[in-house]
Amino acid sequence: MSADLSDLYQQVILDHNKRPRNRGKLPTANRVAHGDNPSCGDQCSVYLRLDAGAPGQPERIAEISFDGSGCAISQASASLMTTQVKGKTAPEVEAMFQNFHHIVTTGETPEEISDLAAFAGVHSFPARIKCATLGWHATLNALHGEATPATTEKHTD
Ligand code: ZN
Repeated sequence: MSADLSDLYQQVILDHNKRPRNRGKLPTANRVAHGDNPSCGDQCSVYLRLDAGAPGQPERIAEISFDGSGCAISQASASLMTTQVKGKTAPEVEAMFQNFHHIVTTGETPEEISDLAAFAGVHSFPARIKCATLGWHATLNALHGEATPATTEKHTD
């Protein structure tokens, strides 16, 4: 990755920390899941409203928000995640998470410029991978309607 690109990606993370997107509870949510990353002390709750829009259509994430506290990586990643998964179906979100997981575990970035690649640097700090994936795990658990709290301890990377 060029230095310029790495600067650009750094900006993405700083920006999401400074101005988190979709932060707060969502009164209209029909799915909620909580994520906990004890190894770093990060917490993340995800609220989303699944809606098919019309009969016979697949359910999509019509609205999403997150709430939580923790390190900059966990909160910026959760904020960015909410902007990426809106309007997507559960299988689409799973595919996006696979891509994101590949980025943070290998440092390899996709061909096309993606804000998710801002987290490629995380692969140099394996302990932080759980921080970066916390919001995603919570969202996947919310999508699958699991009542149990999402914990990165269960989903070992
Ligand atoms: Zn963390």
